[in-house]
Amino acid sequence: MTFDGNSERGERSPAGGGAGVRILVVEDEQHLASGLKLNFELEGYAVELARDAREAARHLVRPEAYGAIVLDIMLPDIDGFELCRRIRESGDYTPVLMLTARSDPSDRVRGLEAGADDYMVKPFDLQELIARVRSMLRRRKWEKDEAREAPSDIVSFGRAKVDLASHRAYVGSTQLDLTKLEVDLIRYFFANSGRTLDREELLEKVWKLRGYKNTRTVDNFIARLRRYFEDDPTQPSYFVSVRGVGYRFVPDREG
Ligand code: CA
Repeated sequence: MTFDGNSERGERSPAGGGAGVRILVVEDEQHLASGLKLNFELEGYAVELARDAREAARHLVRPEAYGAIVLDIMLPDIDGFELCRRIRESGDYTPVLMLTARSDPSDRVRGLEAGADDYMVKPFDLQELIARVRSMLRRRKWEKDEAREAPSDIVSFGRAKVDLASHRAYVGSTQLDLTKLEVDLIRYFFANSGRTLDREELLEKVWKLRGYKNTRTVDNFIARLRRYFEDDPTQPSYFVSVRGVGYRFVPDREG
């Protein structure tokens, strides 16, 4: 993802250790951040720290570079809800555990609506936090294994074939690697072929962002699908705009 267009990447090699899974901790309270880092490292994880959303964005240039993200809600620039939303918007589905100082149930709801996977209230037990992150990582691994073992699930239209299981697409002789979000979007369009889908529905069903209004996100992803799959992206025949409403997927016409 990007943050105000500043996107340089501090590529560092994992600190090594057992699992070697990389975790990004986004927290401005220095002693808490270092405590988390130390404890994760003792468990064999490689940890990088970001003090605010801007720094986090620099670490999150490549989708799913980390196994998990621990994200504090109270940050000096934008809050954790907004950052989580931006991460999801960018098509990055890294598991996110949110931290908050308040035990307000509405924070939990907001976190989940922003696309977080889990939630902990400060002060928390470090061992419990590590166990929760471990369980998020395990769930994600199951999902990946399941996707890998699933029989190929191919949809085709025009010159395009999309393997929804392997996230790979072929257009003529060109092969494309799709992100999870692009695949989810194509799957949703296919399942709802011919029906006009408004942007809010797409944000809720595909991005899992409820009550979210930033519709530019949807438009950007549609533009991407058109570049991949349309013969002429300016005259789309599959991912068609419905003026004032949203989009409709038009499967191949007969004959
Ligand atoms: Ca904080």
